[in-house]
Amino acid sequence: MNGEPEVHEKSGESERPEEFEARLKAYEGRPAAATGIGRDPVNQPMIRHWCEAMGDTSPAYTGPDAIAPPTMLQAWTMAGLTRRPERTAAYDELLRLLDESGHDAVVATDCEQEYLRPLRPGDAITFDSVIESVSGLKSTKLGAGYFVTTRTDIRAGGELAGTHRFRILKYAPAQRPPRPKDLRPRPVINRDNAGFWEGVARHELLIQRCTGCGDLRFPWLPGCNSCGSPEWDTVAASGEGTVYSYVVMHHPPFPAFDPPYAVGLIELAEGVRIVSNVVGTPYDKVRIGMPVRLDFRRYDDELVLPVFQGVTR
Ligand code: ZN
Repeated sequence: MNGEPEVHEKSGESERPEEFEARLKAYEGRPAAATGIGRDPVNQPMIRHWCEAMGDTSPAYTGPDAIAPPTMLQAWTMAGLTRRPERTAAYDELLRLLDESGHDAVVATDCEQEYLRPLRPGDAITFDSVIESVSGLKSTKLGAGYFVTTRTDIRAGGELAGTHRFRILKYAPAQRPPRPKDLRPRPVINRDNAGFWEGVARHELLIQRCTGCGDLRFPWLPGCNSCGSPEWDTVAASGEGTVYSYVVMHHPPFPAFDPPYAVGLIELAEGVRIVSNVVGTPYDKVRIGMPVRLDFRRYDDELVLPVFQGVTR
């Protein structure tokens, strides 16, 4: 038990937070996984598959003097589908302690690698993992919890070749306010599309225009697919368009929607296409080629969306 007290007190209300943290800290330095042996020595076929998957064509990874891509470090330690990684009792205990104290949700947050020497085909791999650190209680958007970092030292022929640090957050999920079920999903607004939604708020449908080559693009993207330029401005759509294609949604039911309804791929007069609802026309009267006109519909206090009305000519 590596000096661990043999009898654990249950984490109860009487235990002060510092005492609980001290118990967590006691796991630092203890092994997280039994000494492992790489399932296969470093080998060219795995290197080739990795490079193909990553699209990495560096000449360093082929030929008689090939080395393995450094980022493959962890791949040589993986247990495969049929073998379980050999976690230690100490690591399992630490996780159980966190579970029992209510920090029973887990998310992997990041990993860091250090490379000390290149790995080459034929290198026989051994590795061991240690619980490197357990943080104090941290508040995060997910909820309050503890970061647990394990460090795996990877050796080739007994010589340290690299380290792999892997960090998880064990947390007590924050209470999320219940969302009314009948609201439409919110758009995901980010710095690449914020201008579009600002336009929608002013009842303008803005199309991006590349200032390098003049191409129009929709939906919004950070750069031009034609010339690669990141520079752009916008043009407001005239609002005229036609139904380029459409589907009628019957299933699955979703609380915010009232099927059946038509979802159209609208070709705007400017030439770009947008997916939106066709409204004001019965779902079974929507047709390819049908002229439509832009409108803005308010769905709730926060959400206005561009939609298209069928136009009778
Ligand atoms: Zn361009």
